[in-house]
Amino acid sequence: VSELSRRRLFAACGSLGALGLVAACTGSDDAPPGGATSAASPSAQPPLPSEAYRIDLHAHALPPVYQQALTSAGLTLLDGLPVPKWSPELALQFMTAHGIQAQVLSISTPQVTFLSGSSAVDAAREVNRYLGQLSRDQPRSFAALAVLPLPDVPAAVREARRALDEDGLQGVAVLSNHNGVYLGDPRFDPLWEELNGRGTYVYLHPEAPQQFPDIGIFPAAMEFVFDTTRSLATLAQKDVFRRFPNIRWQVAHSGGTVPFLASRISLAVPGFRETIQRLRYDTALSANEAAQAALRSVVGLDNIVFGSDFPFATVVYPPSGDPQPDLSASYSNTERLKLERENALREFPRLAQVLRA
Ligand SMILES: [Zn+2]
Repeated sequence: VSELSRRRLFAACGSLGALGLVAACTGSDDAPPGGATSAASPSAQPPLPSEAYRIDLHAHALPPVYQQALTSAGLTLLDGLPVPKWSPELALQFMTAHGIQAQVLSISTPQVTFLSGSSAVDAAREVNRYLGQLSRDQPRSFAALAVLPLPDVPAAVREARRALDEDGLQGVAVLSNHNGVYLGDPRFDPLWEELNGRGTYVYLHPEAPQQFPDIGIFPAAMEFVFDTTRSLATLAQKDVFRRFPNIRWQVAHSGGTVPFLASRISLAVPGFRETIQRLRYDTALSANEAAQAALRSVVGLDNIVFGSDFPFATVVYPPSGDPQPDLSASYSNTERLKLERENALREFPRLAQVLRA
């Protein structure tokens, strides 16, 4: 066994041990030195755990109260795609099929931006209470991030405090823009100030921009990733990351187009590339080799986390097997264990504690 494969083996077996999956490592450790395996051959890799081990940080819920609100507003399509079915049971089925141990749930676009005033505030509160209850009922399977009634910032600050303190939610999810207001807008500063004081985990999920040309391609395909890029640029331009350094950011879909464009954007926003290296990025719908090569070269393995985009992305996954088979083209099994599990649990210590118990 080469030194490299030995190191990989020990690292993976340590993680498996923590998972109670040491059986998967039994025997491998006893392989004779100079055996037939080499670091280059697939057999030299430690196997991935046979039990569900993935932590899914890009996973959506559509609680009944939220589905009802969408229906009442006549929203049967979201950005051109039908509203998918969701229930905790469907989520658990998906998780079992794809080796996912736990999901950190959030509300996808349009969140509650299609409502206004007290309707938006009430809907956000009801959704967060539901997510809090689900997380308490099934703490080994679900944690959740709060939805906020943005762009009403004072109401959002109040709901963030309430949901984090009363519902036990483990962060908040925001959109790349809320009815055209981008996250770098100074109007958002009171929210960042509150979340910075708490060291909150903030998930940046895409939304389509208010205007874009109709080219006959559904907006999630390109407008979402363009808008994520735009939003990150506004945050960096307004120095939000430096002024509120305790917020722990996760950016959806491997940063939109950010890894590819980081150096170019730095021409307009000095220091952009260095600034965005400190954020976390999920693999949802971006697990291909080209995207991951760009992402890894800019942000490094420690800042990459696994995301499925369930239930919205389910249609593009194979009915069985790995929803992101391409990850193995970019990462060794040891690296996959890190990005699919360890990097996430570092950010969600309460979930990590529950899973250890
Ligand atoms: Zn999503």
